[in-house]
Amino acid sequence: MQLEVPEGYRPQDAGSLPAYLAEQPELRSALGGAPEAWTVEEVGDGNLNLVFKVRGPAGGLAVKQALPYVRLVGESWPLPLSRAHYEHLALSQEARHAPGLVPAVRHYDETLALIAMELLEPHIILRQGMIAGTRYPRFVEDITTFTANTLFHTSDLALTAAAKKDLVAAFAGNSALCKITEDLIFTEPYMIADNNRWTSPQLDPYAARLREDGDLKVAISRLKLRFLGDAQALIHGDLHTGSIMVTESDTRVIDPEFAFMGPMGFDLGALVANLLLNYFSQDGHEERPGARDDYRAWVLETTRGVWASFGEKFLALWRGAAAAGDGYPAALFQGPLGAARLDQERKAYLDRLYRDTLGFAAAKMIRRIVGLAHNIDLEWIEDPERRARCEARALTLAREMMVNPGAFPSIGDVAEAAAELRGWVPKLG
Ligand code: ADP
Ligand code: MG
Repeated sequence: MQLEVPEGYRPQDAGSLPAYLAEQPELRSALGGAPEAWTVEEVGDGNLNLVFKVRGPAGGLAVKQALPYVRLVGESWPLPLSRAHYEHLALSQEARHAPGLVPAVRHYDETLALIAMELLEPHIILRQGMIAGTRYPRFVEDITTFTANTLFHTSDLALTAAAKKDLVAAFAGNSALCKITEDLIFTEPYMIADNNRWTSPQLDPYAARLREDGDLKVAISRLKLRFLGDAQALIHGDLHTGSIMVTESDTRVIDPEFAFMGPMGFDLGALVANLLLNYFSQDGHEERPGARDDYRAWVLETTRGVWASFGEKFLALWRGAAAAGDGYPAALFQGPLGAARLDQERKAYLDRLYRDTLGFAAAKMIRRIVGLAHNIDLEWIEDPERRARCEARALTLAREMMVNPGAFPSIGDVAEAAAELRGWVPKLG
């Protein structure tokens, strides 16, 4: 396999990185002292790229470099270096619209496909914190500020048509990353594919049913069409709990390499899906039956809060001065009658977005159970019977959310259905 890389590109390692960083005066002074005194640690938990934590006497940096292939798989799965360009572009848009909620970028090298950014410490990945049963009191507030602002300000509600089209053009080249999503989320879980895997034989009948479910295949195809064609706003594109780093008082969204102009519900759905998957996985992590009851309640409360608080913030932005986009021209909604009609439509817009969110959330839950990439909330449950029970409950809820969203008029109904499903003992294969 011939992997194309530009002249001057070379993957960094712990040996080469300090000399490179020392050539950048700002980075050198951020780390402080001499390069020989810096420590470099390669982070192991990334799937696609190289990530290093570099520490010096004055401070630290996180350095992320794209490889011309998928790190986890190797050279047999090529992936363009340009993903670093889109990650950098998305980070700068996000920093503008949601300041303080992404790591600050210190340096970007297009040839090396390398981003040096603020080292988040003592932050941990939210997913890991939630598996351990830790509460994050700022999470709902921060993540809804992030989603409401990044989505609103990059949509036709805030931008002129020309500015919006510039953004569409700027991200249109990120098609290789989009294709991963199109295949792994919207297609392969519903057919026989080499990439698929699930807890077998326990979930064999569940996986088989997905492949025979015509209603589900229509529903996932409609969602795929939205993902392919609806350039609603700049979406992060991979907003699961592994892309969020937290302390109890700070929240940062990392890793927007999948960013492009797509449907808003995809980001919101990713959040809801990963919270629900964590909810179902708690049965596999609790120290004794019932020990995590309070925590489970917090996870569901957080799920409700994410939608409710997002909706409030999004509405407030739309009612405010930033709503200067070409969508819903003010000239059409003059006077008290017009204003009332527009406000009605704002709520209807949010209702449609809520439905999208349920559908995309369901798609994300299903792919994490029968597709290629699973999540550790469920994977870390060692006993396969126990894991399969959690997974079967999540699959059952997801199928309903996707095919029958009308059964869940509010996010509270989703939370209630999840809680009810916990009492169900699935029949396993
Ligand atoms: P990939 O896209 O390859 O999956 P990520 O951007 O998700 O890479 O980063 C991989 C890991 O590196 C994260 O899970 C996190 O542990 C660590 N990491 C990434 N960015 C930072 C940062 N700015 N500060 C501290 N750790 C980070
Ligand atoms: Mg990534």
